[in-house]
Amino acid sequence: MPVLSGLSPEELVKTLDPLPPFRARQIFKWIARGAASFNDMTDLSRDLREELSKRFTLYGSNIAGRLDDPDGTVKLKIGLSDGAVIESVLLRDGEGRQTACISTQAGCPAGCVFCKTGSLGFLRNLTSDEIVEQFLHLRSIIPNIANIVIMGMGEPLLNLGELRKALDIITDPRGLGLSKRRITLSSSGIVAGIRELADAGPDLRLAVSLTTADPALREELMPIGRANPLPALKEALQYYQKKRGRRITLEAVLLGGVNTRDEDISAMIEFTRGLDAAVNLIPWNPVEGMTFRGIALREPETGEIARFSRELTRRGITVTRRFRKGRSVSGACGQLGELGVNIVIFF
Ligand code: SAH
Ligand code: SF4
Repeated sequence: MPVLSGLSPEELVKTLDPLPPFRARQIFKWIARGAASFNDMTDLSRDLREELSKRFTLYGSNIAGRLDDPDGTVKLKIGLSDGAVIESVLLRDGEGRQTACISTQAGCPAGCVFCKTGSLGFLRNLTSDEIVEQFLHLRSIIPNIANIVIMGMGEPLLNLGELRKALDIITDPRGLGLSKRRITLSSSGIVAGIRELADAGPDLRLAVSLTTADPALREELMPIGRANPLPALKEALQYYQKKRGRRITLEAVLLGGVNTRDEDISAMIEFTRGLDAAVNLIPWNPVEGMTFRGIALREPETGEIARFSRELTRRGITVTRRFRKGRSVSGACGQLGELGVNIVIFF
């Protein structure tokens, strides 16, 4: 049965034809309000509710599991209609604001060597309804979500079409009405995707996972960097800033002893030249069994993080540190991934 949660009001009108358009708008509102079924839609007649529930389903996914970390982080496992399982996370910041961390793919084709999702391979892109529903499921736990970060499983710019549809729904003032300014998209640096964002939106905050600005090391750590080399990435970011005029964030997950060398620091300083960028340092969250060049990856030492931060700050670069959240439920960055099905890997 067709799923309605991922349809815009205009698409709903078409799908529900010959029902009058105002019915579609009512249903769109009900989904945003969190109606569990057509039965909750009390301004529709009983007959109509019954007829609708025979032809359509509101949601295609369900909460398959929940893990709570003592720090307030909640991780949801979400079961999809084909049996795949993805993860979404609710994070609470220092001021008690809630942020939803949303996935865009089941698995990820980028293959970053430090990321659990990457180690699973790629299953498939999520559909707009599967993206919207993650937000709805998280909101059923905490009604007042202030921000969204698109930093869950997958590479969002490799699924921009469905993501755009989902964000249009989440930001539609006739429904959920979240402000686009409260949405941050994190990408591993897909050059064509950044250019498309610059040209066609949506107009959200952009973060790029640089990891290191040393080209050879980056390509080893992030195989997707081969097809998206640093000079082309920087040009795309400059193009993005010319068109959108927004400060971007460069994220660097710090891997102890790997990308915390002098070369990484100086390359990072060089990369920020000509960009309006802040650097977000993320201490690597451990994932068991992960190695690089045959040696187990390790967390950075406090001194390594401090030195990196100090050197950038000395050059006038704004540095932010990401706080560790949700580690006991493996809900922190790079720890997401239990797809629950056999993974098909296409590279
Ligand atoms: N695919 C996108 C968004 C999801 S990953 C991207 O790569 O940007 C979100 C962030 O988590 C990225 O900045 C990534 O570098 C970081 N990350 C991945 N694995 C990590 C780990 N084990 N510990 C800490 N951060 C990690
Ligand atoms: Fe994919 Fe991001 Fe993980 Fe890299 S860090 S494998 S791009 S989810």
